[in-house]
Amino acid sequence: MTLLDGKALSSKIKDEVKVEVEELIKEKNITPGLAVILVGSDAASATYVASKAKSCKNAGIHSEVHLKDESITQDELLQIIQGMNENPALDGILVQLPLPKHIDTTVILEAIDPLKDVDGFHPYNVGRMVSNLDSFLPATPFGVMRMFEEYSITLKGKNVCVIGSSDIVGKPMASLLINAKATVTVCNSSTKDLKAQTLASDIVVIAVGVPHLLTADMIKEGAVVIDVGINRLDTGKLTGDADFESCKEKASFITPVPGGVGPMTIGMLLKNTVKAAYLREKRESK
Ligand code: NAD
Repeated sequence: MTLLDGKALSSKIKDEVKVEVEELIKEKNITPGLAVILVGSDAASATYVASKAKSCKNAGIHSEVHLKDESITQDELLQIIQGMNENPALDGILVQLPLPKHIDTTVILEAIDPLKDVDGFHPYNVGRMVSNLDSFLPATPFGVMRMFEEYSITLKGKNVCVIGSSDIVGKPMASLLINAKATVTVCNSSTKDLKAQTLASDIVVIAVGVPHLLTADMIKEGAVVIDVGINRLDTGKLTGDADFESCKEKASFITPVPGGVGPMTIGMLLKNTVKAAYLREKRESK
């Protein structure tokens, strides 16, 4: 069994980004910039945002964190995004999800300039991704694809089961796998016989938010297991959606939690921010 070391790979990606940022500054006089908007005081979201800001700083990317009170109105938020869309120093705009219930997430995501949509959640980018056109890819599935590439895990012709069909993980994951010519089955909480699907799969990607849902008896010998889940147990320990201890005995490759897919997400966000800065450079040099 090979452990898919997201921590090490993410650190390599951050080094790559650092070099790209240095080049952009030196050759094009462009410092990539990312703005993150955090509404409310959700502790987990605040941790993610702080971690994103720190990673930007380390990579030489200018970052701004805009903390907004839970009571902000949708119109006020839209105005802030409009200002960021027009600010040439900002290449990427990211609204940390989830948003409070009185704000329509779709309206907010659609207000972000698609060329600054480093989360890849704007329908413009979603459509381009599904059509296999150049676009910003959602960071978590993008990170999983980079992991496959790094560990030379072939996707073409493989049976892949994606468990979970959310807009931010499961669906984009399935699209990227389809584009890589895998045969993809997408399961959700209404799937009748999950085990039958996973047992027929060479690769299982699980993103459901249910601790230890995937057990060893559900995977075939030599399967690749990608665990996107991040669950905090009552003990305070972080764990994934797969039962790592049992699955690792049967899997050929498996991601640990923590230290697997999680660290990849920020690395790919930085990559997207640099990509946005290159797009700015292209526009400005026309
Ligand atoms: P979500 O709640 O939006 O979607 C969950 C999906 O899982 C749904 O499609 C649901 O139908 C399906 N599901 C739930 N129970 C199921 C079951 N018993 N069998 C089959 N399908 C089931 O969740 P999400 O935002 O996609 O996140 C999923 C997990 O991934 C969470 O643990 C989250 O913390 C984690 N996550 C990690 C990262 C990362 O950076 N590694 C990023 C995003 C989400």
